[in-house]
Amino acid sequence: SAAEAGLYTASDQVVLLTPENVESVLINSTAAIFAEFYASWCGHCIAFSPVYKSLARDITEWKPAVDLAAIDCAEDENRKVCTAFGIRAYPTIKFFHAYSKPESRGQAFKATTHDVRVLRQRIVDKLENHEEPWPPACPPLEPTSQTEIDSFFENNNVQYLALIFEDTKSYIGREVTLDLLQFETVAVRRVLSTESALVTKLGVTEFPSCYLYSPQGNFTRLEVNIEARTFYSYALQRLPGVTRSGKPPPVTADVLANNTQEPWKPFNQYKVYMADLESTLHFSLRVELAAHTVIKGEALSSLNDYISVLVKYFPGRPVVMNLLKSLNARLQNQTGDEISYEAIGEILDNSAQSADTALPEGVRWVGCQGSQPHLRRYPCGMWILFHVLTVQAKNSGGTDPKEVLSAMRKYVHSFFGCTLCAEHFETMAGESLSGVNTFSSAVLWLWSRHNRVNNRLAGALSEDPNFPKIQWPSPETCPACHSVKDNGEHRWSQEKVLPFLMSHFSSSNILPDYLE
Ligand code: FAD
Repeated sequence: SAAEAGLYTASDQVVLLTPENVESVLINSTAAIFAEFYASWCGHCIAFSPVYKSLARDITEWKPAVDLAAIDCAEDENRKVCTAFGIRAYPTIKFFHAYSKPESRGQAFKATTHDVRVLRQRIVDKLENHEEPWPPACPPLEPTSQTEIDSFFENNNVQYLALIFEDTKSYIGREVTLDLLQFETVAVRRVLSTESALVTKLGVTEFPSCYLYSPQGNFTRLEVNIEARTFYSYALQRLPGVTRSGKPPPVTADVLANNTQEPWKPFNQYKVYMADLESTLHFSLRVELAAHTVIKGEALSSLNDYISVLVKYFPGRPVVMNLLKSLNARLQNQTGDEISYEAIGEILDNSAQSADTALPEGVRWVGCQGSQPHLRRYPCGMWILFHVLTVQAKNSGGTDPKEVLSAMRKYVHSFFGCTLCAEHFETMAGESLSGVNTFSSAVLWLWSRHNRVNNRLAGALSEDPNFPKIQWPSPETCPACHSVKDNGEHRWSQEKVLPFLMSHFSSSNILPDYLE
């Protein structure tokens, strides 16, 4: 389809415009929209597309107030749309304010920079100067005053007011306000350093800094590792009682414990559990593969590679490794170009009769338990399994840095039951897997792509309220992994992330049982 031929796909946080949806997206929308009109053959457009994509990931929480869209004018079927909007040069970005009229052709928006931070600030400017009607989801962005604060809790039903004290030129207050717009029971306002009464009253000396004001009248400093946007937003989104709009609050510990269907097993989030890895293998080999009566061609090659990396790198118990080895031997001795699932099932079952060769039947989730039966579990286990394998491959001194990731890509493509997940993953792999040339970059590639998926799924239906999707590891879990550039933008310290991953997914961090 046209969407797939263009520079953006459904995996990006960008609305793909088509002749069918262009009206409904741009006209009379409750959110302000930036629309990029591009041509997929144009060099500037190609160079700009990664910038636009990372901008979209950066402001994904702002969606109800402002969203990004794109359309490929090089596609025959889109040409009429591009002509109607008067597009003559690519790329052209147009701003459509909320509730734009049907005759609106948008306002020109100059994107002469590739600096995501600058583009994001221009978007804040556009929102702050938005004409009436204001996008309903967009919170007030102008600085607050002592007077507003004095009566704040009379007019706003929230548990916290976060005040970001900052200089006039700083955008942090407005950015954090927008980062929190999908969260309930907390409001954010910026206070200018020139608001001297308040600054003096609270003794604020650092700009930026963030204070929490409660209905009881208390002011407390928000503790963060670094006084910067990402750290404020992360901390505020996780305050006790703060929940994402439309999501139920997290289930409390005693409700989880009394869930009789499957008793809740307390676990340590800093550990990896063998029970999750074995449950993943059980589900993958006995349930997911079983959906294929005959496995041949590409799927057979995917299965061979999958079992082969498991035999090489899975840090399993001897009984499980013996089973994987028998399976591998059976596949290696395969003469024809297909194998029936029955033959595989026989190995899985026969082995149950032998004491030293077995894969436990059934699932026993621990670190991948969900607060409800349809949440987490198998896909969670799949991610952990593959992180463990990339880490083990780096430790075992293999020869091909892409071996594990290629096997994962093929498994997901051939067998992973979540078809949409498989498509998204294939898109990511197609974009950048070829750049992985060392074992370290393989470990980091999977980590950063998993974070992209987390970014896309934050707030989605599949998100467990007890385990919100975050950019992982969090500033609490790995403080050294997070830093900021000179301009205050968040930066991952990959030189710290790598050892963190190597240790988290190492065999010595895998607990044999959940009781420990
Ligand atoms: P998961 O995201 O499954 O993570 C499991 C555990 O890994 C976390 O609890 C944490 O301890 C750790 N972790 C988290 N982030 C990272 C990281 N960046 N690096 C290393 N470890 C990390 N669901 C969809 O709805 N749409 C999709 O397109 C989609 N694509 C998927 C593609 C693949 C290949 C897989 C395996 C799953 C996909 N899923 C998709 C499922 C989704 O990503 C989650 O697995 C699922 O929603 C369960 O989430 P979770 O909270 O258990 O955490």
